[in-house]
Amino acid sequence: MPSFDEFSIRAPRSTGDIILISSSKIFNLVYTISKSLNEPEGARRREKVLRNGNNPTVIDQRNATRLRVLEQIRTSGQISRIDIAASLQTSPATVTSATADLMAAGLIHETAGEASPDAAKRGRPRVLLELNANSNIIAGVKVARDVIMVMLVDFQGNELAQTQFRLTEPRMSAETLVVTIGRAVNEACETLGKNIADVSGIAIGLAGQVVAEQNFIYWSSSITENNVDLDPILSQQLPCPAFVENDANLVAKGEQLFGLGQGLQNFLVITIEHGVGLGIVLGGALYRGERGCGAEFGHTKVQLDGALCQCGQRGCLEAYVSDYALMREAVIAMQDDKPSSVADIRKSAEDGNPSAIAVLERASRMFGMGVSNLVNLFDPERIILSGRTSSIEHLCSEQVKEHIRNNVVQVDAPTPEILAHDWGGLMWAKGAAAYGIEQVSVLQVLEMNAHGA
Ligand SMILES: [Zn+2]
Repeated sequence: MPSFDEFSIRAPRSTGDIILISSSKIFNLVYTISKSLNEPEGARRREKVLRNGNNPTVIDQRNATRLRVLEQIRTSGQISRIDIAASLQTSPATVTSATADLMAAGLIHETAGEASPDAAKRGRPRVLLELNANSNIIAGVKVARDVIMVMLVDFQGNELAQTQFRLTEPRMSAETLVVTIGRAVNEACETLGKNIADVSGIAIGLAGQVVAEQNFIYWSSSITENNVDLDPILSQQLPCPAFVENDANLVAKGEQLFGLGQGLQNFLVITIEHGVGLGIVLGGALYRGERGCGAEFGHTKVQLDGALCQCGQRGCLEAYVSDYALMREAVIAMQDDKPSSVADIRKSAEDGNPSAIAVLERASRMFGMGVSNLVNLFDPERIILSGRTSSIEHLCSEQVKEHIRNNVVQVDAPTPEILAHDWGGLMWAKGAAAYGIEQVSVLQVLEMNAHGA
């Protein structure tokens, strides 16, 4: 298993290749991703802030330009004013004015780049602009069943700290959860000699049906109440803005920006842990559905009147393939050798225990059926299974792939490739941090206006 600060990309099982890349390098790739990938997201963020009324200031032309310039700098890493003007198809004077405002607000600064051929003749190094890393600390948070993972990053996305905060209860009231998240973030800040008041924004990944634009939770396996407007609780309990998003969407965002989804237009990310989640990227943008909860793959039905799911309904895919479902099955089937984890079940199956083999085979068949339905619906270029190796390896076996091939509409073309990705917990928090940087950028530009900049 990779350690928490490593990031492994596991090739299909048949090749056995494992490539390890340092996490900070991968995270920095966020800035080299093409602008077109980020544009729909950026537009949605702006829309969210306006609809939310986080700031009563209407976004005017000047702020819209500042935001576009800031996004261009963020996605480029380092860029000259003239190149920003060319990319945005606007005048150098407009860019000079916007960058002066952003510099005055401390969000960007100048840095000497390599001398361009023209500039070298005049003996001057080329001046580039980059985000001011020290201007903001942003927290990415993933709430899992037994732990809250926190990653602190600077405004450029460089990792500053990461911590894990143990949970004694998997499910709690919305208010208790928010208070606990605050404690977890504060604990992470203390490792830097700071506290939560030094954080500019907290992005939170939650399992369940989350309307990100409104910080509204229809249902979450981490929260005891249904239909919770989390916004007022976040404002009351946390000293900085907070943004909630479905956790599988954050993993899809992470895969798109610095994982196995880079450069792809149409791909799906299936997350497997206690539950089963799905992130859908279509045409380079995250698809959320009209009500903001359109990707509940785990609760699609694979069996009429089937096994009981944690959502309260029967026959959901999750009730057959998630960690809790496997444990429930295995504890009954393996009376003589009761497993205490999914890894135990896999170990028993490898040792030839027929009950363990039967439990995993049933899960694999159900999963294959579910994935073939996804292929029939979306025809994606790639499907990424994201989770811990112990939870996903049996789900991308040759047997499952064969099952998928047999159940998709037959055309004379290969089925989408299915790759497993063990992120060791890091992907969730990194995806959340990337989301937080986008959100904080919007808020800070709007604040410039409020201050009359
Ligand atoms: Zn369900």
